[in-house]
Amino acid sequence: MDEPLYPLLRLSRLRMGTDGEGVTTLAAGAGCPLSCRWCINAELLRRAKPEPVTAAQLFERVRIDDLYFRATGGGVCFGGGESLLHAAFLRRFRTLCPPEWRLWAETSLAVSAEQVQIAAEAVDSFIVDCKDMDAEIYRRYTGGDGERMQANLRLLLEAVGPERIRVRVPRIPEYNSAEDQARSAARLRAMGFVNIELFDYVIR
Ligand code: SF4
Repeated sequence: MDEPLYPLLRLSRLRMGTDGEGVTTLAAGAGCPLSCRWCINAELLRRAKPEPVTAAQLFERVRIDDLYFRATGGGVCFGGGESLLHAAFLRRFRTLCPPEWRLWAETSLAVSAEQVQIAAEAVDSFIVDCKDMDAEIYRRYTGGDGERMQANLRLLLEAVGPERIRVRVPRIPEYNSAEDQARSAARLRAMGFVNIELFDYVIR
């Protein structure tokens, strides 16, 4: 089988409280199937040149913070971009890093069911930006398929349970209202999610 590669855009070390718990290194990767109107990474995703790395190469780069990861319950967060596009890479990376390291994935779940299943076995915790649970609002804002995102939410919940998932529900200027946001949160609670974060996109 071919060695999976990760299209690395940048590494950001020694982060606290932004991606996961403890000290984390963010490994931002290229590629996203959505076209969100207010994407904060649009410039980076469009212009930056990714560096394809193997799991062993990435491991060599991030292990410098091994002691911090172990001491604080931290590890590596994969973001971007859509991290679950690289589910096979995540699975390979998991086999290389110490079991004490925690792995996080930031995702919109705009991927195949198979990619969700592979990631569920490799990643400790997920940070899901669900945009909006109304399929029409979702389509207008992202250009993607809200039904598929919701099917993947159910799949992930079933695979890893609610404690390992944080669902972020944004209030999106020009696309949804505070009532829409509250409706999305209520639907997520009814599905069984317990870690739900409401926040506002800030457009500059
Ligand atoms: S899912 Fe995230 S990275 Fe992809 S277009 Fe939307 S905001 Fe940008």
